[in-house]
This record gives sequence, structure tokens and C-alpha cells, in this order.
Amino acid sequence: MRKTLYLKFILAYFIFGVFSFIFVTIFVPSMTREHFTREKAEHLYMEANHISDTYAAGLYTRETDLETVKTQLDTLALYLDSTIRIVNPSGSVVLDTAAPINVEDVVMIENFDPTATSGSYYMINDFFGNFDSEMLSVFSPITSSYMVKGYVVIHCSMSEIQASCDSILSISYITLVILLLLSLIILIFFTEMVYIPLRKITYATEQYAAGNMRYEFQVESDDEIGYLAACLNYMASRIAGAEDDQKKFVANVSHDFRSPLTSIRGYLEAMIDGTIPQDMHDKYLNIVLNETERLTKLTNSLLALNNLNTKGMLLDRTDFDINDVIRSTAASFEGTCRQRNIMIELVLTGDDMLVNADMEKIQQVLYNLLDNAIKFSHSNSAIRVETSIKGNKLFVSVKDTGIGIPKEDLKLIWNRFYKSDLSRGRDKRGTGLGLSIVKEIINCHGEHINVISTEGVGSEFIFSLSQSEEDED
Ligand code: ADP
Repeated sequence: MRKTLYLKFILAYFIFGVFSFIFVTIFVPSMTREHFTREKAEHLYMEANHISDTYAAGLYTRETDLETVKTQLDTLALYLDSTIRIVNPSGSVVLDTAAPINVEDVVMIENFDPTATSGSYYMINDFFGNFDSEMLSVFSPITSSYMVKGYVVIHCSMSEIQASCDSILSISYITLVILLLLSLIILIFFTEMVYIPLRKITYATEQYAAGNMRYEFQVESDDEIGYLAACLNYMASRIAGAEDDQKKFVANVSHDFRSPLTSIRGYLEAMIDGTIPQDMHDKYLNIVLNETERLTKLTNSLLALNNLNTKGMLLDRTDFDINDVIRSTAASFEGTCRQRNIMIELVLTGDDMLVNADMEKIQQVLYNLLDNAIKFSHSNSAIRVETSIKGNKLFVSVKDTGIGIPKEDLKLIWNRFYKSDLSRGRDKRGTGLGLSIVKEIINCHGEHINVISTEGVGSEFIFSLSQSEEDED
């Protein structure tokens, strides 16, 4: 059986209860009894010493008579709640506060042995068979002329001492019950605050492990456990979201691969079975070639995105001249621009402008932005690439006067495979991945990219780069 935390705590509580009970019912009584006995014995011993030095000594030097001493000791015995005796070394009782004076019939204590206390000043027993119950007896010798003449013996009933112990013990029992009740409250508190939330969290993790990432649970507390539950909920929702993205991504990829493949296959079959006549083959082979180019572009973009995702922050940062990169990228579009009579205007700050970034990736950003700007520009128009400095940042803007982006699409253009309806007619070969790659690269650099666009007027994409530290000085 799996041991739950709750069971362990119940067990710990039970063990705590049993040990406290044993301690309070066995050890505490014996310790209390011992303490009380010793204290009482000490007190009586002092009294016995006092009696032997004062009243009793006079008895043996005949300074006082038996009657006077008895009266005095009677009062003292009453006050001490005990019996005081004066006993001769032979065991004959000279005076007993519990009995009247009787000179004729002297009481003898059989086997009286004052050394029986074996070093201690008190003993607990029936005093040589003299009492029916247990008595605490203390001795003090009465000396005169360096001789022991007799002993002052004080007896106190052990049941008296036990009664005092019992009153104290009842306090310990009440304390024990209160302690057990308090720890029970802690146990209930623990169940509410820790165990129940933990059980919810455990159940949720089991659900997540079984693949049910949509499982949601609530832990109402603002401590570490509440935070853990919130993090777990958030993590599951992110994983669920990522799973959805993954599915969407695969669906999009399959769709984008399938359409060119279907058209390639259609044209090739038509050429083989003669539906397309021989003299038209060149035209259709060119269409097939265009479709394969689209597939190559799609594959390359997917690979680029995959590399960015897996490599994360692994950038090959160097200091390079961004003006140079802008010029060479713009030059690579010369052919396309000439065909459609589009002019690329460069407005660059400084002769060379050193930035610190991954050159190849920034080149890719510029390439994608210029490619889009040309694709969505009207013939006989101009595209402007401009750089400007603000603080230690360099801003690059790629601005066209093309079809623009509808307001509602502005947030979506960064999503993978997104193409606005407006662009579809113009751009049959677009993959919808270009801007996702751009965003990913700029984010990897810890920089920002923004777009300002008005439908029918044009678009401007602006991204920031860090100037190289050398250039800043
Ligand atoms: P694609 O490869 O299809 O161009 P992108 O991710 O680069 O994919 O762009 C996504 C969409 O954003 C495009 O289909 C288009 O609708 C819109 N877009 C991007 N750049 C521009 C631009 N300069 N002018 C107008 N629309 C643009």
C-alpha cells in the first residue's frame, strides 16, 4: 500500500500521543513523588535538628521536664502534620506526641537501629514494623558531652505526601489533554492547508502525465503551495497550447506541401497522357519549375525556423557595418526591381555604422522585409530603407507604398503561415513564414520589431539593433 503523507502524520500524532501519555502517567508521578519526599524530608530533618538542639537536649541535662517538652512538641507536631518521638539508642520511646506520657509502661521499638538509613537522613518504610502503612521517618541524634543520648525521630505519613503529589499531577494531566487537543488542531490545519492542496496537485500531475493537459484545478491559497498549483496550471495550459500549435503547424505544412505537389502531379500526368499537347510542354514545365521553387523555399524557411527554435539564443554575434549589409541585400533584388520598375532608395546614417549582431541572420531579416516590400508594392514605385540612431540603438526602417495591411491583420502577420486575404491574389508563392522568421531572429537578439501600415497606402517595418560598443565611444 502507498503510504500517504496524511497517514504518516496521523501515525506521528499517534506516537506523540502515546509517548506523552506514558511520560505523564509513569515518569512524571515518580519524579514528582521523589521531589516532594526529598523536600519534606529536608524540612523535617531541619526541624528534628532544631528539636534535638533545643527542647530534647534539656531533657537529658534535666533542665526541662518531660511534660514541658511534650507540650512544646505536641504543638510542633500539629503544625508539621506529623508525629515526633524521642527514642533512646536502645529503642525505648521516651516521648511520643501521638500518645500520652506513660512512665510505667515504656513502649519499645523492636530492632531499633538508627544506622538503618544507610547514610541518608531519612527512610521510607513501616519503621521497624511500628506502623501499618508507609511512613517517611527522619532522624537527628541528641548529643550531650559528646555522647549520643537518644534520637529525635519525626514520622510523616506517605499518604500525605501522595495527596500533595496528586494535586500537582492532575495539573499535568490537564496540560497533556490540552497539548493533545492543540496538536489535533495543528493536524486539522495541516490537512486543510497542506494535505488537501497537495492531493489536488498530485491528482492533477497524474492527469497531465496521462496526457490530459486540459485538466484544470483550483487551490485557493497565496502561499508556496498556491503558487506551485498556479505554476502547474499555467505549465499545463502552455503545453496544451503548444500541442495545439504543433497540430496547426503540421496541418499548415501538409497543406502547403500538398497544393504544389498536386498541381505538379496534375500537369505531369496531363503531359504524359497527352491532354497537354507537346507544343505546350515548355509552358507547363515552367509552371512545374515554379512550383518546385515554391517547395524549396518552403523547406528552407521551415529549416530556418527549426534552427532558430532549437538553437535558441545561440547567435554568432560580431561587429559589422549594417550599411554594407543593407546595400548588398538591396543589390540582390536589382533584377526583380528592374522588371517592375521599382526603385530602392537608401537613406543611411554615417559612412559605416557598426552594429553588434549575427550578420547572417540580420541579412535574412533584411532579405525577408525587402522581399515582402517588393512583392506587395505597385510597379513604378519606390521603397525606402532608412537607418537612424537613438541612444545606443540603431533603427532600420523598410518602407513601401504598396497595398498595405488591413488593421485587423496587423497582429496576425507574425504568426506562422499567416497570409492576409489581400495578399493572396498577388503572392501565390508566399509561404507565410517570412515574418515569423524575422520576429524570431529579432527576439533572439533581444531587440524589437514594429509595423506601421495603412491599407492602400503602404507599410513600414522598423527594427532595432545594438550599436557596437566601439562605435558608441
Ligand atoms: P509571405 O512569405 O507569405 O510573405 P510573411 O510572413 O513574410 O509571409 O508575410 C505574412 C503576410 O503579411 C503576407 O502574406 C502579407 O499579407 C503581409 N505582409 C507582409 N509584408 C507586407 C508588406 N510589406 N505589405 C503588405 N503586406 C505585407
